[in-house]
Amino acid sequence: MTPSTPNDADDALLARLAERLGSDAVLAPEDRYLEEPRGRYRGQAAAVLRPADTEAVSAAVRLCSEARVGIIPYAGGTGLVGGQVVESGPLPVILSLERLTRIRDIDAIDNVMTVEAGVILADAHAAAEAADRLFPLWLASEGTARIGGLLGTNAGGVNVIRYGNARDLCLGVEAVMADGTVLHGLSRLVKDNMGYDLRHLLIGSEGTLGIITAASLRLHPATPERATAWIAAASPDEALALLQHLRARLGGTISAFELIASEGLAFLAETLPRVAVPDLRSEWFVLTEAADVRGSDVGDRLESALAEALEAGMARDALIAQSAAQRDAFWTVRETIPEANRLIGSISSHDISLPPARLAEFVTEAGDALAALDSGMRINCFGHLGDGNLHYNVFPAKGRARADYDGLRGAVKVLVHDMTHAAGGSVSAEHGVGRLKSGDLARYGDPAKLATMRAIKAALDPAGILNPGAVLPPS
Ligand SMILES: Cc1cc2nc3c(=O)[nH]c(=O)nc-3n(C[C@H](O)[C@H](O)[C@H](O)COP(=O)(O)OP(=O)(O)OC[C@H]3O[C@@H](n4cnc5c(N)ncnc54)[C@H](O)[C@@H]3O)c2cc1C
Repeated sequence: MTPSTPNDADDALLARLAERLGSDAVLAPEDRYLEEPRGRYRGQAAAVLRPADTEAVSAAVRLCSEARVGIIPYAGGTGLVGGQVVESGPLPVILSLERLTRIRDIDAIDNVMTVEAGVILADAHAAAEAADRLFPLWLASEGTARIGGLLGTNAGGVNVIRYGNARDLCLGVEAVMADGTVLHGLSRLVKDNMGYDLRHLLIGSEGTLGIITAASLRLHPATPERATAWIAAASPDEALALLQHLRARLGGTISAFELIASEGLAFLAETLPRVAVPDLRSEWFVLTEAADVRGSDVGDRLESALAEALEAGMARDALIAQSAAQRDAFWTVRETIPEANRLIGSISSHDISLPPARLAEFVTEAGDALAALDSGMRINCFGHLGDGNLHYNVFPAKGRARADYDGLRGAVKVLVHDMTHAAGGSVSAEHGVGRLKSGDLARYGDPAKLATMRAIKAALDPAGILNPGAVLPPS
């Protein structure tokens, strides 16, 4: 059941690819395809292929399949687990979807938008908005991440609390399978139980089972009335109680509920002082947003719900954005925390999820356990509280360097992941497995699940050419 090892991409294959795709579609790999956002991996490839349409993707895959050469699907390159870069092993080709940028169709009655895999998320947002609809997948990488990568990783982001992950926003996919066959699955149907749902097999498979070339995406009614608040909370527990209260008062209009630790604001002050932080003092903060259709009174409802929360001791203080500029300023703080983290330089970063009810206890216990390992390490824990998703990142003590902790890095990661697993959580909440966490899949995954995944991989990609080395650990 183990797929075989691919061959190196050689000049003869590159010549055949150039002949079929055009020489401008077979390029020497520039640095931007070989690097990834956190600088953890440096990739290698014989060439970058830039096919112009699905047919050309199919032809490229067919040629690579005949030559048994590895293919790394590449969309926006913003993935955070090394899924889009391969550092060693047989020399693969990178297959970039960047030229498949057509929005094929928008139907405001079916509420479906059919887009190609290279469409940038921000462009998908703009297209939906022009049709007075909302495509609610939202993440800070929206200006670079592309639909193929977002579906490949089943991306999450800030609106999952209301609309679900990328998977929940996709009705169907068109994909090129490992032998070059095109799977025609651009369904526009909400209900379709005709056999196995291959869309859900491909979404989140990180390019290891097929290359998504287009997708039919689910649109939602536009919600132009937005009310945004920055709230001081005493603890994650208090923030969770506040979330229950806001949901009871505002129902499904709560679209985002982000937990932010004061350490994140300290990092911003240290590294990016130009970012204006709201003037409230606390250990913890919440950034929440409620959104609704035109003519709703969502702002008034959020204000009165927050007044009740303050009176009931479920929050310490709150600021409601009084303008679009102030709302943007609140969001800028949240969006720039990852950049501040990068500038400080983490010892170890963790994208984890926990059952929300266990989250507050986890934060306390993991903090204590890390302090026992090495006192002084700083923890910046923030994330999508409503989904139980924390970005739990551990940093050097003030005045010490990342390199001082080289000997401790593995222990920090194992401690956080073991505690997450013990609490019934996942060590990959929204970023995927890629190459960074394939070992964790073996360590924490159910053996039967892993065996089934290997069987699926062997059936769909027997030569092991699709994103070799990603997701599945060596057997
Ligand atoms: C600043 C910043 C903020 C972020 N915030 C979030 C967040 O809030 N939530 C979140 O979930 N992620 C977040 N991410 C991670 C990242 O943006 C997502 O994982 C995104 O889905 C990757 O999309 P991409 O187009 O950049 O894909 P890439 O990085 O190019 O690829 C990602 C993976 O998908 C595979 N792939 C690419 N194209 C295809 C295709 N057409 N078919 C099949 N597989 C394919 C690749 O081989 C790789 O394994 C963030 C990243 C950054 C840099």
